[in-house]
Amino acid sequence: MKALVYWGPKDVRLMDRPKPEIQNDEVLIKVRYCGICGSDMTMYSGKHPRIRPGTVMGHEFVGEVVEIKTSKKTDIEIGDFVVVEPMFNCHNCFYCKTGRYNLCDDVQMCGRDVDGGFAEFVKVQLDKVIKLSKSCDLKRMALTEPLAVAVSVVNKCKLKVGDTAVVLGGGPIGLLVAQVLRYSGASSVIVSEINEYRLQKAREMGFVAVNPNEEDLKSRVQNFNKVGADVVIDCVGHPSSFETALKLVRKGGLINIVALYHDKVSVDLLQIVYSEIDLKGTFVYTYNAFRTAKDLLEKGLIDVEPFITAVYPLENVVEAFERIYRGTDDLKTLISVP
Ligand SMILES: [Zn+2]
Ligand SMILES: [Zn+2]
Repeated sequence: MKALVYWGPKDVRLMDRPKPEIQNDEVLIKVRYCGICGSDMTMYSGKHPRIRPGTVMGHEFVGEVVEIKTSKKTDIEIGDFVVVEPMFNCHNCFYCKTGRYNLCDDVQMCGRDVDGGFAEFVKVQLDKVIKLSKSCDLKRMALTEPLAVAVSVVNKCKLKVGDTAVVLGGGPIGLLVAQVLRYSGASSVIVSEINEYRLQKAREMGFVAVNPNEEDLKSRVQNFNKVGADVVIDCVGHPSSFETALKLVRKGGLINIVALYHDKVSVDLLQIVYSEIDLKGTFVYTYNAFRTAKDLLEKGLIDVEPFITAVYPLENVVEAFERIYRGTDDLKTLISVP
């Protein structure tokens, strides 16, 4: 079968690989769509500490079940459309046993530690496979994984109906977070972004979009809530973005960081104390957020169509990576597998 293999920094190759053979409690999936994620680009650029040469990349995939091996009772059948939670955890450690398996020390990420979904076929753990309805739009369902991150973020925000929320960064995760914030009852969602195309996308989605290089972000936020934002989500990860978050959040408000910071940041902890700021970090998702994301998409409650700005066939996957690396405005690029 054809598969996209990580070979080294800026060296990914579409190669012939043997079709995976499944063991007990595993499922073989014929991939239909797989999204390119920011973390895939970190691997591509050579800045990811974990990816090993020879691994098939891709973790945001949907497809069709072609083989199952298990003696367990399961609702998964051959021919089902499915989405996969791409995090294979140990099931035995403290974090797995207490339901926070995103923190498992032994977690194996599909497309990073084990072969992933930029391929014709991928094998996965049975308990990470989620059945989709036969009538679903598979292309949209390919956004389940990034939407699960957004759901996980918002679930940690103690959001109340009518809250004012600010999202720093209008990339795919930022705009998905903005969508979930609005769905969860935020009355004003302000997106801060400097890229014109993404600002326009945010506006089209009905958000207040502000370019902080051109407008005073704080006074725009204060137009909606004089005391400041109830919730600020940092989807940028630049030392200045945390500083901005501290400027925008009201006393007693909450800052949630989902961005992956590569550099250390100096923080005014005194303000955290004096202003009683809740500081949160969110790393991916667990069971509930993933299933909620799938439900929101299946029921059409969050519209992800505007996110899908490019679709390439698997044979052009290398070109898609090169294009994103050179810099493109695209929000989400999907790879379609024939
Ligand atoms: Zn992802
Ligand atoms: Zn574990």
